[in-house]
Amino acid sequence: MKTMSHTNHPATERQAVKTCHVCKGARFYYLFSISDYRVVRCDDCGLMFLNPQPSDDELTRIYDANYFLGSDTETGRQAVSEIKQATARLYLAETRRYSGLQYGRLLEIGCGDGDFLVAAEDEGWLVTGVEYSPTACEKVRRRLKNGQVHSGELAQAQFPAEQYDLCVLSDVIEHIRDPLVFLREIHRVLKPGGTLFVATPSIDSWSARFMKQKWMEFKTEHLTYFDRQTLQTALAKSGFRDVIVQSGWKILSFDYVKMHFERFPVPVVTPFLTFITRLMPRKMRLKHRQIVASGMMVFSRKSEVTPQPVLSVVVPAFNEVK
Ligand SMILES: [Zn+2]
Repeated sequence: MKTMSHTNHPATERQAVKTCHVCKGARFYYLFSISDYRVVRCDDCGLMFLNPQPSDDELTRIYDANYFLGSDTETGRQAVSEIKQATARLYLAETRRYSGLQYGRLLEIGCGDGDFLVAAEDEGWLVTGVEYSPTACEKVRRRLKNGQVHSGELAQAQFPAEQYDLCVLSDVIEHIRDPLVFLREIHRVLKPGGTLFVATPSIDSWSARFMKQKWMEFKTEHLTYFDRQTLQTALAKSGFRDVIVQSGWKILSFDYVKMHFERFPVPVVTPFLTFITRLMPRKMRLKHRQIVASGMMVFSRKSEVTPQPVLSVVVPAFNEVK
């Protein structure tokens, strides 16, 4: 969930985006600010992003050891973990429907506390995780039976090419400084015909339309805001084919949603949720519900055959008339 890109910028400096990460356009217009970060839209492709992006230091402060949504009690943590694993099983089932593949080698980037990997391993996948937080990595290593976890960023792991049948990005791509560079690296490590599954907040979602600038996904660590169009373009430009976009289902409970909104408060919504969950019986608060949330689920694949570079030959046209 937390992945940053290595850059040459000083760690304290906010990083200006000079050209759009998706289309390379350079005309952006200002939309609004969250805290003191400007949200802009690319005039050419419509991609929304923070500009400038927060500094490495600012992101490190956000991604402290307590970043992953948890609970103060062991029972609470267990409930959160069960919800995340239920969402993982839902994502795996949808991915299986798309690819037809039952199991194989799975890579999850930004694996957090490892709930997705644990669920995937239980279903027979051979799992590998990449996670920026060393604390989270240690925890994941303890939870997996055979799976591996790399601490750091994807590029640092230097995986050999064409290793994985499935790559999973669950609430990750919005955190990446340069999404296209990142997607191209994923494309490289996937086997020909391999599947990429992306879950990310979507500007097209009902919650984004309803909450507008108060949308809970507008936050400092979310550097890029995709919609269906811009994510499809980004995937196509990174070499992915057969893109299918669906509304993002998640498994949630009232308790989990309330905890999220208490952590990232939104006027009216947070007090309302706190109020109604107080009135509910415990069983109802903890019940798993499959709902369309703020995101989209996007499936795509790497071509079976690696396209050969097109050889362009310039044929000199000359006149043989003497
Ligand atoms: Zn653009």
